[in-house]
Formats: sequence, structure tokens, C-alpha cells
Amino acid sequence: MNQELNNLFNPKSVALIGASTKTYSIGNVIIKNLLRYNYQGEIYPINVKGEDIHGVKAYKSIFDVPGKVDLAHIVIPPPFVPQEVENCGQMGVKAIIINTAGFKEMGIEGKKLEDDFLERAKKYNIRIFGPNCQGIINSDPEYKAYCNFTFTYFKPGSISIVAQSGGVGAVIMQAFHDMGIGMRLYASNGNGSDISIPEIMRYYGNDEKTKVIVLYIESIADIKEFMETASEVAAKKPVLAISAGRTEKGAEASKSHTGGLAGGMTMELIFKKAGIISFTKLDELCYASIAFATQPIPKGKNVGMITNTGGPAIIATDELVSRGLSIPKLTENAKSILKTTMFPAASINNPLDVVATAGAAQFKSAFEVMMNEPQIDSVYLTFVTPPFVDCESVAKELAEINNKQIKPMVCNYITDKQGWIETTNILQDSGIPCYDFPETAGQALASLVKYHEITSREKGSIVSFDDVDKLTVANILRNVKSQNRENLSAKEVYEILSAYQIPVADWMIAENLEEALAAADKIGYPVVIKADSEQVIHKSDVGGVAVNLTNSEEVENAVKEMKGKIGQNDLKFFVQKFLSGGKELIIGANKEEGLGHLIMFGLGGIFVEIFKDVIFNISPITDVESYEMVENIKASKILGNYRGKPGIDKQIISVILQRISLLVTDFPEIKELDLNPVFAFENSAYVVDARIII
Ligand code: ADP
Ligand code: MG
Repeated sequence: MNQELNNLFNPKSVALIGASTKTYSIGNVIIKNLLRYNYQGEIYPINVKGEDIHGVKAYKSIFDVPGKVDLAHIVIPPPFVPQEVENCGQMGVKAIIINTAGFKEMGIEGKKLEDDFLERAKKYNIRIFGPNCQGIINSDPEYKAYCNFTFTYFKPGSISIVAQSGGVGAVIMQAFHDMGIGMRLYASNGNGSDISIPEIMRYYGNDEKTKVIVLYIESIADIKEFMETASEVAAKKPVLAISAGRTEKGAEASKSHTGGLAGGMTMELIFKKAGIISFTKLDELCYASIAFATQPIPKGKNVGMITNTGGPAIIATDELVSRGLSIPKLTENAKSILKTTMFPAASINNPLDVVATAGAAQFKSAFEVMMNEPQIDSVYLTFVTPPFVDCESVAKELAEINNKQIKPMVCNYITDKQGWIETTNILQDSGIPCYDFPETAGQALASLVKYHEITSREKGSIVSFDDVDKLTVANILRNVKSQNRENLSAKEVYEILSAYQIPVADWMIAENLEEALAAADKIGYPVVIKADSEQVIHKSDVGGVAVNLTNSEEVENAVKEMKGKIGQNDLKFFVQKFLSGGKELIIGANKEEGLGHLIMFGLGGIFVEIFKDVIFNISPITDVESYEMVENIKASKILGNYRGKPGIDKQIISVILQRISLLVTDFPEIKELDLNPVFAFENSAYVVDARIII
């Protein structure tokens, strides 16, 4: 356990530097919150006048405090903060929450102050939380530490929250609270000048009473640290996160909010790679968290459905199936049992309609059967409260089943909560996740299944390919750098690809017509001629590509025409084998600061331009990940046998992706790499156009 963060989350005493008698001030609210939440430790308000706050004895300075201080809040204006940190250090305080804003986020002067207090904190081994932050909450009855200026006095539970933005944190905690769901630890660390989100995640990961971690992060300061910690923690317990800034505008907003790197799509890829369950909607995240907090993780995607009313179960079925879950048939054994226990009108199938008149006995049998069915991994329940049924008994039965935690269950609970108070209370206390809408219940269950899939997925391994010629690439790149160039020539690019054993169509460079004719003869007709000049980037846009040239006359015409259109002095002719009948693919790598490269795969042509059907992953990619990329584009069917045409060799493409990933990992100076297109055939694939920028 991280001792340092223990002072932050489990303080036995809290000092508040800047405690105030003014009702509407942070220095007042935090004292009030500590009292109201029934904080179990000592409270030491500190202000220059030494005025007591809410009846708690105050001190004029931290030096006057009679006892040891585990945690100090600082809420005074920025210029005074560094000195107070120093004072705390002298008093042996080891953790400080700086709520005050007006530091790095305000520019150079603020940054100076931030650096100043950080330096002093370091000198005394103090850990700083914030600045510009809300603080923490620990609901553990042993502590009840509400070191925070918010207003949600939640009950203990097993969900712990870490939110970069206090506003989003407040949305999440209030939502859980309104649904009657308890939480365990809460942290919103603002600027995160010292204690980082990964560190908090690790603390939650090690905290036995935290079952689920909810994360809101807009930008990651240290992506490597995040990836490592998150992967480690997510393997231990479910981490549910929301990725904000998916749209361009959203990404912009997030950048200006936190000034960090990697927003939007990149964040989603990072989550995926780390094994974090990613959401795009806060409400979905909260609903799913409730199921994680109370239910075991299913061992597969097969759902048994029990309902006492038809329609909602149909909607739920659609939701479950559209999220990749299955509703398998019941075994004969199960059916024969149900025939004896259900009412005659019941529909003995999956979904199992126990009908509205079903009472506790029918529900009991239905659940027993589902829990015993070997092919069923979880149970989805639609429960409406018919006024002609003893619903309290049903609820008690359900609670008892849930207590055994054999298989996870979720419930779409349809009732008037004011009318069925007792039934509702029984269900709520039981920990059965109850949802008003069938889709919500279905989504929550689907998230449980997703976590099972994430934790049991095969990650594969990063292949090292010892047949690559690193030295050749290093020499080429050194030469390009020495000439201060960013764009590599065709010759350089193709030599690099060949050095990494990436198959390319046969090619030669010709200085003039004669050489072009000789090259065409050597390569063998039909050939393609392309303009090769530093100034020409999109060759076909300027008439720099002539395909399917079948004889010397056509080569001659093409060369002459190209000379006429493209007057560049450095114009050369790139002669290449013409390929026909293959599928055009696109493969790319783009450098992302602090992260590595994003490897991209997609079908060429309109699939890229109109449908944007491409898939990304973060380098280095494993063999499994690269194959998944090929499989997971939307149009992947087209890559297989389709309408009588043979498919392509996906394994070859997967290997090209891995080799590209290795190339950019070995040479991180590569900023952009584009293979567009790669022609793929039944048993082979060749790059016909490539670009590298360093
Ligand atoms: P650019 O992208 O710079 O315009 P390309 O080399 O990609 O130039 O050529 C444009 C298009 O011509 C390709 O997308 C492909 O459809 C076709 N093409 C290029 N080279 C070949 C080749 N060797 N065999 C068959 N078609 C080719
Ligand atoms: Mg191209």
C-alpha cells in the first residue's frame, strides 16, 4: 500500500489553512463538510485571527496546532501558498491539498508559484494534491473524511472515483447518490502538479474495499506512466472510463481546459490497450458501474432471460443481441423442470415468460433453473410489480438468489416506487442492479460481459523479426537528416521498406527516357510510370501516374507527357511493375507525441475517403492486435471470399502491419508513413505507393 497516499486518503487529523467564518467561502465549507460528514479525526482550522469555525477551536498558525497533522488543506491566495507549504514541512505534514486556483493554468507567474511550492514540498517529502482542485472524500466509517468543498454526502460503497475535472466528478457522484448507490473514495486532483491520476488509480487498485474504479480523464500528462499503471490496475479490477473530446470541438475544449496531450480518439485507443472499459456517455458509465459494484463477472456472453411481462423483454433482447450477447435455448432438462413449476400460461423458452401472476415460488424455480443451466452465464430479469401478486415475497426471493452470487444478474424494474416502497427497498438493499429501462439494464449487463472479454482476451506478443536490416535504415535516415530534408525520396522509401522485408512491387528509377525504357524491359510489361520529384506529393493529382503501359511506345508517350506537365528540375521516373486484380489497402503510421505511433489500417479508395473505414492501434502492436485490425474494419467481409472473388491473405497483411510497427518503433523520428495503396492478393501483397516523412 502506498504509504504517502494514506496520509491523503486516511488522515487522522486535518488542518485547514485559510479557515473562514464567512459562510460562502471554501475555508468555511470544508470545515462544515468535515463536521457534517462526521469526520472521525481531529480538525484544526487555521486563520490569522484565530477565530473558531463552526464551534471548532482555531489556531493562528500551523505552528500553534497542538497535535500531529496528517493532511493540510491550503485555501489561501496563491502568493502565500509556497510559504505555507514550507511551514507545513517544518511541522511534519506529509500531505497537502491545495484547493486554491491561480497557478500553472494562469500562465507564467502562476507557474512560478507552482514550481516554488513543489520545490519546497519535495524538500520535506510532502505530497501535493492539486492545486486548483476539489480534494478527496473517504466514506470509510473509520475516517469519514470529507476533505472537499462539494455537497454530496454519500454513503459507503465499493465504487471509487477519480476525476480530473471536479465538475464531471460531481455529476458522477451525485448520480450514484441519487440512485441510492454508495461510494468509497473520491478524488479530483485539478492541475495534478504532483499526485497524478495513475498514482490514485494504483492506490484504488490496492484498496481492498474498492471493487470498481470510475475514471474521468481529459488529457494524460505522462502517457507511459498511465498505460503501465492502468493496465496493471485494470487487470485487477474493472476500470470504467469516459473518453471526452471525441469530436474535434470537444478535443479543442479539452486541450484548452487541461493543456495536456492525447485527447479524443487517441484516448479511446489508450483505454482499449490498457484494458479499461470505455464509455461515451456518462449515464451509461454510471449504470454499468452499479452492476460492477454488486455483481460477479460473467464467464461468457450467454444470457438467460426471465420476465413477467412480454414487451420490455423483447426490447431487452434486441439490446443484448445488438451488443453481441446471446440468448441460447434452454436444455430439455430445464424445460421439463419448468413444466412442473410454472403456471400453464408460462412460455417455457429463453426468454422465459413466467407470466404476470407468477409469485415467489415461480421466480425461485425460474432462477434456480437459470443458475443451473451450464450454457447460461448471466441472468436478465424483467420484473413488473403486478398489484395482484405478493411482490415483497418475490423481492425477498430475488434478494436471496442474488446473495448467493452464482451468476450475475440485472433487473429492469417496472413499478411505482412510491406505491411499492417495501418491495423497492428490499431490491435496493439486496444489491440487485435495478434499472427503469430495459435498454439500460441490457447495456449494464453487456458491460459486464465486455469486461470478461477484455480480461480473458488473448493479447498476443510483439514479434521482433530478426530478419530486418536496421543499419541500412539508420544510414538512409542519417543521410536525409544531414541534408535537412523531411520528405524521403521514392528510392529511400522503398529501400527502407525492403530492409524491413515489406514486399514492394518491382521498381527502378530512371533519369531519362532511355533508362525508363530499359527499366520497363527489365521489370517486364505492363509497367507503371510515376513522377519522382521532391516537389510532387500527390502524383496522380498532377498527372504524375501512368498505369498499365504495355509497350515501349506507351512508356515513351508517358515520359514525354509527364515532362510536359511537371517541369521540376529534379524530375525522375519511377518505373514500377503494374499489378492488376488485387484489393487496394491502406496502411499508415503517425507519430503521437508522448505515445509512440498510431498504426492505421483500412481499405483504399472510397472506403477511406467516404466511409472513413479505418482502424487504429497504438504501436508496438502484437500479432493478435494486428490480425484484429485486419478483421475488424467494417468492410472486412470484402477482404474474404466475396461474390466469387477470392479473398486476400490476411496473415500477410497482419505481418506487414507488425513490421511497420517495428520500423516506426525502431525509428521514432519517422513522423508519418503512408502505404497507399498496398495491393493484396490471394497469396501475396505488394506496396505500390509509399511516403515517409521524418
Ligand atoms: P499518388 O497517391 O501519389 O497519386 P499512386 O502511386 O498511389 O500515386 O498511384 C495512384 C493510383 O494508381 C493508385 O491508388 C493505384 O490505384 C494506381 N496504381 C499505382 N501504382 C500501381 C501499380 N503498380 N499497379 C497498379 N495500379 C497502380
Ligand atoms: Mg497513393
